[in-house]
Amino acid sequence: MSIPIKNKTMHARKRIAMVAHDHKKQELLSWALQHKTMLEKHELFSTGTTGKLLSQHLNLPITGYHSGPLGGDQQIGAQIVEGHIDFLIFFWDPLSPQPHDPDVKALLRIASVWNIPIACNLASLDFLTSSPFMNDSYERQVPDFDAYLAREIPMN
Ligand code: PGA
Repeated sequence: MSIPIKNKTMHARKRIAMVAHDHKKQELLSWALQHKTMLEKHELFSTGTTGKLLSQHLNLPITGYHSGPLGGDQQIGAQIVEGHIDFLIFFWDPLSPQPHDPDVKALLRIASVWNIPIACNLASLDFLTSSPFMNDSYERQVPDFDAYLAREIPMN
């Protein structure tokens, strides 16, 4: 199905959500410590445990949601839908089963629907965060929901 699109401006100060599964938290923390100067230019959000760990070590303000398995991934997904988050760092663990696997998939899906940059591992994170768009505004294409609602429905 093709959904019409429109542009949405992502400003230079990005609203970044950071989530890491338990075996990936150390990787994300080390990266965040190395890139603290870059991170402090942006607005940070996180799921419960990841956010607590990052804010303890980074000493930066981070808006925390519930822990992932308790609904935090869904809360971040909802913020993406509302247009309140425009960049997702999601270090999901490909080698361990997660009790909230459906929520993990839902977050990845919704970030894709809303054309949000997603960094799922260190290499993607380095490539994405070294993009010139990181410090500049960017016109992101998003679904045009008004046009979608006004679409013709077959009534047989
Ligand atoms: P956590 O959640 O930051 O509370 O550990 C992460 C997740 O599994 O989504």
